[in-house]
Amino acid sequence: MSIEVQAVSKSYGTQLALKEISFSAKKGEIIGFLGPNGAGKSTMMKILTGYISPSKGTVFVSGINVLTNPIEAKATIGYLPEQNPLYQEMYVKEYLQFQAAIFKVSKETIATVIKTVGLTPEVHKKIGQLSKGYQQRVGIAAAILHNPDVLVLDEPTTGLDPNQLQEIRTLIKDLGKEKTILFSTHIMQEVEAVCDRVIIIKKGELLLDASMKDLKQSNEQIIEVTFDYKLEEQFIQKLPNLKTYKNNFDNTWYLSFDSLEDMRPVIFDFAQENGLKILELSSKNQRLETLFTELTA
Ligand code: ADP
Ligand code: MG
Repeated sequence: MSIEVQAVSKSYGTQLALKEISFSAKKGEIIGFLGPNGAGKSTMMKILTGYISPSKGTVFVSGINVLTNPIEAKATIGYLPEQNPLYQEMYVKEYLQFQAAIFKVSKETIATVIKTVGLTPEVHKKIGQLSKGYQQRVGIAAAILHNPDVLVLDEPTTGLDPNQLQEIRTLIKDLGKEKTILFSTHIMQEVEAVCDRVIIIKKGELLLDASMKDLKQSNEQIIEVTFDYKLEEQFIQKLPNLKTYKNNFDNTWYLSFDSLEDMRPVIFDFAQENGLKILELSSKNQRLETLFTELTA
């Protein structure tokens, strides 16, 4: 196991921020750590990365006990804290060289990391001159300089505009091909787009720990599709496995299916066979959306 959290509790004075949290992550998994503000996400991440100690419980990262062997453990962890603390006056390259010196990382590695996170065009700028999206890349670059197996990212996409958000999500997915990633967010759709597994916490308690695959399989598929043509109900009913349908706007249909098969290609074929064009199509994981709302309400 890459991450093993065993019955971790944390209190700040009289306030219990985490209550007996246990979960684990397999090597290479991308886990979305989801919860409303104040749920305890950052607290859990600080414990996981050895920045604060739990009041109770144990944490292993890459098989190393973070409490008893913090230095060895930190060598296998990359951490992007919530308020990505960067030196605004430093140049990107200068900052990464400074961080690299701490881990005794070679110049070649710095160059590779700059490429990996897509910082090349901005590398000669001061950090303070960068957009928030590029600043996050600098933070992620600093976190992966020492090539850790486990990456802990605390709300890496908060405060980004939609384009930057998409780019950082893609970067997380790419990094996840080689690393185990735990990242926190309060955006449910983000988990759906990026993760293999989702963990939901609220008020310090673990509410859900499930693979996206299981969630999707036990799920009815909801698809929203817009055709270039107004269709009759009888026509839509020809779609296989259709459970419910609704047509709020003229050419847009909200369809739900009872099927394990991905219905999107089926709808494309259906459109083509009937001489229709699809102007827009999106699928929604109703279950996770509802779950999150219900669990955290
Ligand atoms: P999240 O990251 O999910 O928003 P946090 O882990 O930051 O949640 O906070 C969990 C709870 O612990 C909150 O109620 C917060 O006010 C409290 N808390 C966090 N850090 C401290 C601290 N250093 N001292 C006292 N309370 C804290
Ligand atoms: Mg937080």
